[in-house]
Amino acid sequence: MIETGTMEMNVACNICNNSTTLAVNPVDVIQWQQGKLIQDVMPYLNAAERELLISNTCDKCFNDLFPCSDDTDTVRWEEGKEF
Ligand SMILES: [Zn+2]
Repeated sequence: MIETGTMEMNVACNICNNSTTLAVNPVDVIQWQQGKLIQDVMPYLNAAERELLISNTCDKCFNDLFPCSDDTDTVRWEEGKEF
């Protein structure tokens, strides 16, 4: 186990350009980039923070894009609706 602790990561929103600082473990980021599920490797991030990492969309803009999405982070992934 490598003891790296957390690092601060600045992630800018693609839409409003606001950057948010997330405290993440770099080891977890690498695992995620290698294909692991973000909610498995970074369970300490909330849904909005994960969304920011995944799609570079901050919580505010995400809610603007999907105004009727639920607050719970699992609904979106489990709905399985196809358009
Ligand atoms: Zn934004």
